[in-house]
Amino acid sequence: MDSKLIITCAITGAETTRAMQPALPITPEEIAEAALEAREAGAAVLHLHVRQDDGTPTQDAAIFRRAIELVRAKCDMVIEVTTGGAVGMSPEERLQPVALNPEMASLDCGTVNFGDEYIVNTLPIMRQFAREMKAHGVRPTLECFDLGHVYASQILIKEGLLEAPFHYGLVLNVPGAAKYEPDVLEFLVRKLPEGAHWTAMGIGGKANLDCLYATIALGGHLRVGFEDNIFYSKGRLAKSNAELVARAARIGADCGRELATPEDVRKLFGLRGA
Ligand code: ZN
Repeated sequence: MDSKLIITCAITGAETTRAMQPALPITPEEIAEAALEAREAGAAVLHLHVRQDDGTPTQDAAIFRRAIELVRAKCDMVIEVTTGGAVGMSPEERLQPVALNPEMASLDCGTVNFGDEYIVNTLPIMRQFAREMKAHGVRPTLECFDLGHVYASQILIKEGLLEAPFHYGLVLNVPGAAKYEPDVLEFLVRKLPEGAHWTAMGIGGKANLDCLYATIALGGHLRVGFEDNIFYSKGRLAKSNAELVARAARIGADCGRELATPEDVRKLFGLRGA
């Protein structure tokens, strides 16, 4: 169990649209502004997806570069780029932002349903991603959507492609993958390698909030933001990503968890900037 609480904010994602959530940040400028607000509300890590101007998800390195530069100019958040991308993207396409040497990147640890669609992550694809991240000094967040993904990550650890300290992202409630249920989360956490850090996220309004409380109870870290959930409460859209971060920070504070700063995260996860 980590004592300080790390809040990650996933402000944009690939699937959320403006029609669903009018405050969704899309352009690099909007992303940087939302990142600053999230930082001020208590988030230490920014989970970053980018979009084309019309809102289409993209892994274009030039757009990532612009967004990263603008975020850097505004705040000191640790930036974790996505390599999950969006459904239908090739592994090479998904890997592009890793070449920008971000401090962290997500690494999906298995093939997963996304409703009627899916994202393919075979072991060879995972090895390719792990090698690329290692070559660029990028710390992966090992995203697991199911129990098998935890075991798949251990194959890469055994092969020396992943090095401690490990950070897991437990993603629950994606339709077609493991649901968020308290015992499912608790079981997954028990199966993580000794000493691994972990952040959990429930996808969708109710799961997101329930998972947040369970994660606090189990001593993990939190992720909130419009990628995972657009509501503040049932039927009430969140006003901003920062509003969701502020609540997570408040719940953490009520439970005696001091908020981690980006510098704390750099030390804890052994990031390049540390
Ligand atoms: Zn993502």
